[in-house]
Order: sequence, then C-alpha cells, then structure tokens
Amino acid sequence: MTDLTSLTLAEARKGLAQKSFTSLELTDAHLSAIEAARVLNAFVLETPEQARAMARAADGKIASGEGGPLAGIPLGIKDLFATRGVRTTACSKILGNFVPTYESTVTSQLWRDGAVMLGKLNNDEFAMGSSNETSCFGPVGNPWRREGSNATLVPGGSSGGSASAVAALLCMGATATDTGGSIRQPAAFTATVGIKPTYGRCSRWGIVAFASSLDQAGPIARSVRDAAMLLRSMAGHDPKDTTSVDIAVPDYEAAIGRSVKGMKIGIPREYRLDGMPAEIEKLWSEGAAWLEAAGAELVEVSLPHTKYALPAYYIVAPAEASSNLARYDGVRYGLREQGRNIIEMYENTRAEGFGAEVKRRVMIGTYVLSAGYYDAYYLRAQKVRTLIKKDFEDCFAKGVNAILTPATPSAAFGIGEKGGADPVEMYLNDIFTVTVNMAGLPGIAVPAGKDAQGLPLGLQLIGRPFDEETLFSLGEVIEEAAGRFTPVRWW
Ligand code: GLN
Repeated sequence: MTDLTSLTLAEARKGLAQKSFTSLELTDAHLSAIEAARVLNAFVLETPEQARAMARAADGKIASGEGGPLAGIPLGIKDLFATRGVRTTACSKILGNFVPTYESTVTSQLWRDGAVMLGKLNNDEFAMGSSNETSCFGPVGNPWRREGSNATLVPGGSSGGSASAVAALLCMGATATDTGGSIRQPAAFTATVGIKPTYGRCSRWGIVAFASSLDQAGPIARSVRDAAMLLRSMAGHDPKDTTSVDIAVPDYEAAIGRSVKGMKIGIPREYRLDGMPAEIEKLWSEGAAWLEAAGAELVEVSLPHTKYALPAYYIVAPAEASSNLARYDGVRYGLREQGRNIIEMYENTRAEGFGAEVKRRVMIGTYVLSAGYYDAYYLRAQKVRTLIKKDFEDCFAKGVNAILTPATPSAAFGIGEKGGADPVEMYLNDIFTVTVNMAGLPGIAVPAGKDAQGLPLGLQLIGRPFDEETLFSLGEVIEEAAGRFTPVRWW
C-alpha cells in the first residue's frame, strides 16, 4: 500500500469509499507523520485522542453510507479558529491558555461534513506577518530547502503552519485565513494551493479578528481539486456574521476540468515591478502561455492605483487591528498581569502579552485613527481603497474573467533574513496580494514552477466577486501544465 499521507484528499476520499483503508488508519498515519516532523514546529497543539475519536465516528458513518463530503479526512486547523474545548491562542501570549466554549462556524461546517481534527497549527501572532516568525510558539520551518543548503527557510505567513503541514504531508488540508495575503503567500512558498475566497463567502464568526473588513478564511491544500472540496464545506451564509453573504455555494469541484476557452485573462501592467527577479517574470509569461494554449485570450489591463495599495493596507489593517485588539486587557480571558490599579493591570497585561509586531500595529493603528490624523491617514486610505476596487471593476466591466499575476515577488527566504531592521522589507512581500483583500475579491495561488535554487514559486489568479469557480477552472489548467511539486524529506 502506498504511504497514506502522500494521497491527495480526492484520492483519500476514493480509498475510504472503496474501503481500501479506514479513516482511523489514515488518521494514525498522519499523527505519526506529525510526531516525526516536530522540528518543523507546524503544530502548536496536537489532538490525537480527539482525532482518533472523530476518525472512528467517521468510519462508522462511512460504513452505514452516511459519510459526509469530507468523511474521515484528517485536517489541521490554524490556531486562529476557535475550537470548542481545545486551546486557541492566535499564537499570542496574551490569550494564554484560552479554551473556547464555542466552535467557529467554518470549523463546525468541516466537522459537520465528517472531517477529522489533527490539531492546531502555528501562525504569526494574530496573523500579523509574512513569515510566521512573530508567533509566540516560535518560527515554522518550510519543508523546502535551497538545493545544496541546510538552512531552514520560512514557510511564509501568517498561515505558515498550515502551509508547512500540508506541504510536509502532515495533514491532507488545512484551514487558513488571509487579510493581506496570508493564504496565498505561504501557499506559494511551499508549493501548495491556497484560495482566499470573496469577502463574505466564509463566515468570520469564531475566528480571532485581525482586520475585520479584510479577513477571510480559506483552505490550503495539496491540489486545486482538494482546495475546491474544502472550500465547499467552509463557505456559506451564517446569520452570526452579518458580513457573510447569503448566496448559494456552488459545487466548486464541478468547475475543475471545465473549458476556459474564450475566457479573457487580464495581465496587469502595474504588476511588472522594477527589479523583479527574472525568474518571476519568466514564470508569469509561462503561466500566461499555458492559459492561452488552453484557449483563453490574454489582454493587457491597467490597475493604476496598485502602487498605493500597500501603504493604504498598512493603514487600514492596523487601524482595525488596534480596535479589535482592545479587548485583550486581562479582564475576561487569557493572560493577566497584576498592577496597583486597573489601568496599570491593563498596561502590564498588554505590555507582557503582545509581541513586538503586534505592538507596532496597535501603535500605528491608534495613531492613524487619532483626532487630527484621522483625515490625513485613515480617511485617505479608505478613499484609496475605493479607487483600488474601482480599478478592478473597470477591468471586469471590459469583459475580463480573471487576472493573472505572480503570487509573491520572490521565493521563500531564510529565518531571520528579512524585516529585522526595517519592517517594510517584510511588508513588501504582500505587494501582489493586498490589492485583492482591499477590493474584497477572490484570489488563488497555484504552484507553477521553481527558481534557480529549486524553491517553489506560485502564480495568482484574481477573480470577479463570488466567481471562485473560474479560479478553480483556470487554476487547474496551470496545475496540469506545471505539474505537482513535493519537497525532499529532511526532517
Ligand atoms: N502579511 C500581511 C500582514 O502582515 C498579511 C497578513 C494576513 O493576511 N493575515 O498584515
């Protein structure tokens, strides 16, 4: 029998249905893989007992023909999703040993459909970061290394644990969240598939909030098909989140293999950056050629406000974060540091509980929202956001079905290599992804090739609102042409 951990989710579903193996066997295989890969630090909490109990229950349901669409499939859950009775920390010291008494809507839908939880995955503290280095549990290792080097690279962030675990075959898929690129950038750094759906597609209820007008949940998976299967379970209207949208969730899997003939693919002029590595440039042209060969038509488009996206994002996101994070004050949950009075208790708790990057964001956010600066920064950034959204709308109004861009400006980098002295160096990673959050659009990252050092690179497809299906159809064309990439095991 082939190693059960190397199956795709779609293959595992078939094997379970044909009774080639049980969910308990599949789950145990992944639990052993997790144990053997602790050096990657992808999981911050393993839940083997819960996993086995869920697997047994799934096996029972499969046997009686009542298995849901994800029956018996072992998954990892980003530690930003509240899981009932299971510690949830957002990888921040300030949440301490917080154990929610409720389950996030997204995860409850996965369990409804029969999935099995293997444990909680590492991420940047409160999802703020692009390398998973801000986690209070320490950095995550990327299963990919440069050819001929033993240096550990970052898996990207903030969903670094999710991407690393999926790429290292520790779970068949994972939940993730994306506020400015946190699903797509780590997917690109690890040769996995990640989709950030349209804002409103997935409920945000029970997910630790970073920037509420930008946050969206989505899956990281081993293939485009697997991502489609996962998103179908994760998505859907939820009365508990007023920003979730009440429109039917299509069978995303049915979009795979659908013809892309005649589709118009926009290539945005402004994404051709000065100093962009030649390899990224080459990957982008290759991707365009693959889509063209499949019958799509390439058109040059302009998104003129692109250059303002990153600065505007780094005003809007910290502003919302500073407000969302005001609730961590030592009163209701998590860490409490004593003080002589309540103000001092707040101060001590927040000083002790938040990491450096989170503090930076809270300070930026408070500043841009403060009287006297609000108009100059926050209001202006919101206006820029409207213009960015309009750029995309103009493009789609001209009949463009989707836009093709690189997912990241480079391949994975080394731990400690970026952002030490200058945080902007790290923020630049999000250059191709933040526009999509600012406009609320769906975006998928698909592995498309490797750089000269053997590291994976990804392409991004941006779609019309609520048209994730087109992204799956086009994404699969790229996947078919590029092939699949697996890291050489060193852990
Ligand atoms: N890297 C971006 C940031 O640090 C995006 C993070 C995310 O999408 N959660 O804000």
